[in-house]
Amino acid sequence: MEFCPKCGSVLVEKKKNLGCPRCTYTSKGKAKLVSSEKIEEKKENIEVVKKDMETFPIVSEKCKKCGHDKAYFWTSQTRAGDEAETKFFKCTKCEYTWREYR
Ligand SMILES: [Zn+2]
Ligand SMILES: [Zn+2]
Repeated sequence: MEFCPKCGSVLVEKKKNLGCPRCTYTSKGKAKLVSSEKIEEKKENIEVVKKDMETFPIVSEKCKKCGHDKAYFWTSQTRAGDEAETKFFKCTKCEYTWREYR
């Protein structure tokens, strides 16, 4: 069902075109009943969390939980200033994470 954009009346068929019975509005051509909507799929940015982990170097460090001898290694400066950096280890097997102070 098409409505007149001018006065809102329901359009009726006039010869070839649809026209408004109340005002002089006439639609151009046949009414388009189906509007082609292009729904663009939103591509979600899937953040690869594991990627960061894999960039860390793997060192020989014994896991305190499972005894595995390989662990990811990184350091972190917890506070600015004279505090020593903290060593972090994450077991490549059980993902147990621990840290080591100097
Ligand atoms: Zn009208
Ligand atoms: Zn482990």
